[in-house]
Amino acid sequence: MPYGTLPSPLDEQTWRSMPAAQQPDWPDPAALERVCDELRSYPPLVFAGECDNLTARLAAVARGEAFLLQGGDCAETFDGVSADQIRSKLKTMLQMAAVLTFGASVPVVKVGRIAGQYSKPRSQPTETRDGVTLPTYRGDSVNGLEFTAGARVPDPQRLLRMYNHSAATLNLVRAFITGGYADLREVHSWNQDFVRTSPAGQRYERLAEEIDCALSFMRACGVDPTELHRTEFYTSHEALILDYECAMSRLDSRTTRRYDTSGHMIWIGERTRQLDGAHLEFASKVSNPVGVKLGPTTTADEALTLIDRLDPKRTPGRLTFITRMGAERIRDLLPALVEKVTAEGARVAWVCDPMHGNTFTASTGHKTRSFDAVLDEVAGFFDVHRALGSHPGGIHVEITGDDVTECVGGGFGLVAEDLHQRYESACDPRLNRSQSLDLAFLVAEMYRG
Ligand code: PEP
Ligand code: MN
Repeated sequence: MPYGTLPSPLDEQTWRSMPAAQQPDWPDPAALERVCDELRSYPPLVFAGECDNLTARLAAVARGEAFLLQGGDCAETFDGVSADQIRSKLKTMLQMAAVLTFGASVPVVKVGRIAGQYSKPRSQPTETRDGVTLPTYRGDSVNGLEFTAGARVPDPQRLLRMYNHSAATLNLVRAFITGGYADLREVHSWNQDFVRTSPAGQRYERLAEEIDCALSFMRACGVDPTELHRTEFYTSHEALILDYECAMSRLDSRTTRRYDTSGHMIWIGERTRQLDGAHLEFASKVSNPVGVKLGPTTTADEALTLIDRLDPKRTPGRLTFITRMGAERIRDLLPALVEKVTAEGARVAWVCDPMHGNTFTASTGHKTRSFDAVLDEVAGFFDVHRALGSHPGGIHVEITGDDVTECVGGGFGLVAEDLHQRYESACDPRLNRSQSLDLAFLVAEMYRG
């Protein structure tokens, strides 16, 4: 039976005996158990065969033959699940991918932080405002953003809403992707509501014209491959709330291997990658492609242990290291990791998250990032990999399709005083559409070298 799934036997839960960081303090464990039983009865959101296809695409990234574009919100919200918002995120990713594919002449693997990115690790368990201290917001999958005692109580019913909102999002993404919206002939229409106002939009319009010319030339030559009319787009999220991820895991009936069917790719965050921790144990038992965030404290020995635990068979595409060192430190810290991993013979995909090492609080009190620092970290990432002969395999970015004002700099030169105008992120600041396209053009130039 191709692509079938069997319910997961409950005994495959070795992670439960290990410390699990960043888990909510659910007030009623029995209510959580009922929710997990319900989730176990639900259909998978993605199929094992799709996850394997993504592993094959990421293997090309690891071999140096493709580039990963992974992006989306820091935190999806239930309110953000609307046709307009999903379309605008997808459109931005498709535009960035067109810029990178055409500008850098490299196949681009497109993976959204979407349809499941609802859970957030936090540096503090509580938050204080005007003398009032409440539990911190841990993502819409756990509690509410609103600063009231009621909203901040973890509610397991939210895990069911996460499943349903992920399913609705994925359904529309699949419809757009297979229904003609992602056809390269639409390369102009993705830009329609944007071009007049933005320098990045105008630059994009010129690139779209070149793509059009290339397509017309190919058609005139009698070449019109189906690859141009549809694309692949995969989902990913941080596998943070292990009760949810475990309840969504299934055995694939073709291979009897286990998959986390909540998304195609999962990653382990900087705060949950402990070598003796539950997150690593859980991820080691599922066959999805797995990413691990590596921050500035990561040692080369830790990286090697992560490889042994997550990719003992050294399967290219299985493991992606997403480095997030900060612009000022990447040139110093990344070489030792890459050298040791390469010397060990492991073929991981190296990807740069230029967001999380570059967050600061602006004079206005907003959590922000500067476009220049983001760009500088990507430049450092390219410098290091070029110097060592390894492949700069991709970028992992927090972006949105809307004209928000959350990061400073970029084409419009946003400054701290602009941030209040449209600051909408439920968690970390995202590049807006214009900053995202700016970044794609600059990364394409770096890739070309
Ligand atoms: C994130 O990707 O939103 C995140 C929390 O990242 P990190 O684990 O790298 O801090
Ligand atoms: Mn984030």
